[in-house]
Amino acid sequence: MTRINANYLNLPGGYLFSEVARRVATFSAANPEARIIRLGIGDVAGPLSPVVIQALQKAVAEQGEAAHFRGYGPEQGYDFLRNTIAAAEYAELPVSPDEIFISDGAKCDLGNFQELFAADCRIALTDPVYPVYADANVMAGRAGRADEDGRFKGLIYLPCTAENNFVPELPSVPAQERPDIIYLCFPNNPTGTVLTRSQLQVWVDYARENDALILFDAAYEAFIREPGIPRSIYEIPGARDVAVEFRSYSKTAGFTGLRCGFAVVPKTVTGTGPDGKRVPLHALWNRRQTTKFNGCSYIVQRAAEATHSPEGKAETMAATDAYLANARAIRDAFESMGLTVAGGHNSPYVWLRLPGDMDSWQFFDLLLAQAHIVGTPGAGFGPGGKHYFRFTGFGNQADTAEAIDRLRGLSL
Ligand SMILES: *Cc1c(COP(=O)(O)O)cnc(C)c1O
Repeated sequence: MTRINANYLNLPGGYLFSEVARRVATFSAANPEARIIRLGIGDVAGPLSPVVIQALQKAVAEQGEAAHFRGYGPEQGYDFLRNTIAAAEYAELPVSPDEIFISDGAKCDLGNFQELFAADCRIALTDPVYPVYADANVMAGRAGRADEDGRFKGLIYLPCTAENNFVPELPSVPAQERPDIIYLCFPNNPTGTVLTRSQLQVWVDYARENDALILFDAAYEAFIREPGIPRSIYEIPGARDVAVEFRSYSKTAGFTGLRCGFAVVPKTVTGTGPDGKRVPLHALWNRRQTTKFNGCSYIVQRAAEATHSPEGKAETMAATDAYLANARAIRDAFESMGLTVAGGHNSPYVWLRLPGDMDSWQFFDLLLAQAHIVGTPGAGFGPGGKHYFRFTGFGNQADTAEAIDRLRGLSL
């Protein structure tokens, strides 16, 4: 008898994007003349920048030469990339190259990292949230079952709403229910909001005082333009003892198809072993990766390295600037319509508070029918997204401009 991991049966139906596709297909069949614009895309428009393409081509050629061929690389990533990241991204911060673990993307790392922790660790996450943090813990059996609203009994939700300016408040749970692990993502997907240095310090201090760990998703740091907003959690004093950081080349440099990211696991971050002794997570993650992962490809790591050169940085900046301009234009349009909207600065995401009691699927249908625009219902990001809607700046500029004209004509 092959008994399954029954925790998988507790996962919410992965119906969001299939339901979006179904509704769009039904609408298109009934309205073949309508030109639909997608403002809900969670993928970059591309293409990859010239510096990245050159690095790829050079690395491909090397793989065809006996003298330069590379087979299995180090599971942790090549030194050339780890050294480059440490120098380019963490120059003034206390991160050393051997604390950087290269991977094939942040989603896997964020999903896999929870394997290092006991089955009864308590998990806190923001609501709304990038679904991977919750789902990976549901699979591991830490979340239990969801109630009717989709809230898991075993998770601690930190609401991020227009009322609290999308800044999560410290959990107000009894001491015995304090979280052991806290997922934070800033700039946030889906709300598009950032935390200031002092707001992030509150979380680092809380983690230190409560012996908790912060898993910090910095996938969107390249979109930060405002001086003073922290790009890395290690800019916050004390974070080196309590935080692991995840980054990705996906949104930063258009690597969504190429696949590369990394985790920073400082040697000073520890968990508690069965005998009460502190165990460095660095050693555990190294063991996990060397056992289950065989490294990100050489070619892709050369491409990632190229994004950190001065030309690479300039090209990446130009691409993220274009996405930011789109997002800002969408945000400005909603603001001028008198609606409450977050994001669109320091982030490619725009998070709209729907008027009154309107729910996110109702708005989805209205937007499609009136403006032929597709976005992402907030309900897909957790119970807290029910009255919100996500737009992205990842479309092309002309389409985004036309969509904005149509948005202004909406009657809500
Ligand atoms: C896109 C995204 C990632 C990056 O995922 P990759 O696997 O590196 O493509 C990580 N976190 C969030 C919140 C994201 O939106």
